[in-house]
Amino acid sequence: MDKYQILKKYFGYDTFREGQEPLIDSILSGRDVLGILPTGAGKSLIYQIPAMLMDGITLVISPLISLMKDQVGSLNQAGIHAAFLNSSLTTGQYYKALELARQGRYPIIYVAPERLVTEEFLDFALHAKIAMVAVDEAHCVSQWGQDFRPSYLKIVEFIKKLPKRPVVSAFTATATREVRDDIMDILLLENPKVLTTGFDRPNLYFGVQSPKDKYGVLKNYLEMHPGECGIVYCLTRKGVEEVCGKLKEDGFSVTRYHAGLGDAERKKNQDDFIYDRYQIIVATNAFGMGIDKSNVRFVVHYNMPKNMESYYQEAGRAGRDGEPAECILLYGGQDVVTNQLFIDNSQENQELDPVARELVAERDRERLRKMTYYCFTNECLRDYILRYFGEYGENYCGNCSNCLSQFESVDVTEIARALVGCVKSSRQRYGVNVIIDTVHGANTAKIRNYRMNENPNYGELAKVPSYKLRQVINYLLLNEFLTVTNDEYAIVKLTAKSEEVLGDEAQITMKMAKEQEHQAKEKKEKKSRKGIAAGLAGADFTEADEQLFEVLRSLRMEIAREEKV
Ligand code: ADP
Ligand code: MG
Repeated sequence: MDKYQILKKYFGYDTFREGQEPLIDSILSGRDVLGILPTGAGKSLIYQIPAMLMDGITLVISPLISLMKDQVGSLNQAGIHAAFLNSSLTTGQYYKALELARQGRYPIIYVAPERLVTEEFLDFALHAKIAMVAVDEAHCVSQWGQDFRPSYLKIVEFIKKLPKRPVVSAFTATATREVRDDIMDILLLENPKVLTTGFDRPNLYFGVQSPKDKYGVLKNYLEMHPGECGIVYCLTRKGVEEVCGKLKEDGFSVTRYHAGLGDAERKKNQDDFIYDRYQIIVATNAFGMGIDKSNVRFVVHYNMPKNMESYYQEAGRAGRDGEPAECILLYGGQDVVTNQLFIDNSQENQELDPVARELVAERDRERLRKMTYYCFTNECLRDYILRYFGEYGENYCGNCSNCLSQFESVDVTEIARALVGCVKSSRQRYGVNVIIDTVHGANTAKIRNYRMNENPNYGELAKVPSYKLRQVINYLLLNEFLTVTNDEYAIVKLTAKSEEVLGDEAQITMKMAKEQEHQAKEKKEKKSRKGIAAGLAGADFTEADEQLFEVLRSLRMEIAREEKV
């Protein structure tokens, strides 16, 4: 059997997910690996499939008894012999399992790390053929994380005792550099293949619209996507009923789902959608948990959800098959008000004491603000999402409604020159923030000197806002015109390509968000209420819109504050 056959036969899947295959191939070629993939990405398969193909036993180190039981349970169900060795077994069971292991019954054995260097286990391991040691939740070796487990340090001790070094594979969802480096150093990975897959889902298109006639826009959208399956999310049950009713009248193949329906009807409607008896399901956020329908081509949010976490989770149900799919958010001012009401009247929060309740509500309002801002940013939507989840995207993805309509190519040669020049003239001693400050005209002798001698335009550049300078620095780093030291100081350094930027022929253009009309206007008018409003939405405003402007104003102030620090 090969890896594809195992995937199909034992796990029932036709295709690998992103990142799985290259890591499996590396393991099979005998190379150590470190896989950094988000939760739910499918890390287990990456060691389970090679375990079935390698000559010898795979030991899986896992931190929790419950995780081991889960996994071994599923493997046995799938028809794969696996066992766990941990403190939940009685002595009798433990010896029995070891005995079966000795007879070669298990290609996969889950072991608690503290068992590894015990006498009984070593006695087994030293006489068995251990093909691989797979370290799950490998961030537990690092004291940087919150889950440090001293017993994970026994893993290396154990591996060193083995007569032949097995392949060592390590997996985690924690992507920080410290943890990653710790894993490689502490587990003594040998020239590992390191693979990180991000939270990004490149096949998803993201779009935001705030139409006056929402239903009309939805109907139009659906007419443009005949024969495709999709989900339409509404905030309320009432919304679901209304939208579903209208769509039905207009002849669409549509069903509905919300917590107000009886169990039987919910189950039926869900199955109707999953098995393609209806193309469209209109639903509240009650729909979707644990549903793995791969051919969802669009997720339309008829209302803005309460936060980015919900949005990304719900939108992410589109395009699971990796084919292009669309995530459209139809925003209306009323959505902010509705969500605000949900926060104020949250049932769950009623059970908390008043102080905790207020803290939770404050957190939720903050999340709502960031969600709202997503609907109004003119930056790349994907970048906004990734930054929200703590990753760095590029500032232009080319596959979202902002990139396609609101971006323009900007010649940033002068800015790039100033930045690289600044790194050079300050003798490569500063991090990104100091460099930005410097370009912004901290009035030191060094800078005055630099400005006079090397770049007469420098003065103008002091007016470029920080976020733009940051975008250009990111661009320079991504394209290796600059680099940054791999330590806690993160000092910006020159590279072999830096001189290209300083040369006369240099021309550097990058995609940047157009400054929106309303932003420009706002600056001029020093923003009266109507000033912001006029740019945003058009003529007349509801109370909901007014509330939104309030939210936006405070957000802008926050962002301005963050820019300063
Ligand atoms: P992780 O450890 O990365 O959080 P798991 O290994 O627990 O993720 O897998 C999460 C889910 O994804 C499981 O239900 C698993 O069966 C499923 N899965 C893994 N690989 C695939 C695949 N290639 N196709 C479809 N589903 C997969
Ligand atoms: Mg896992």
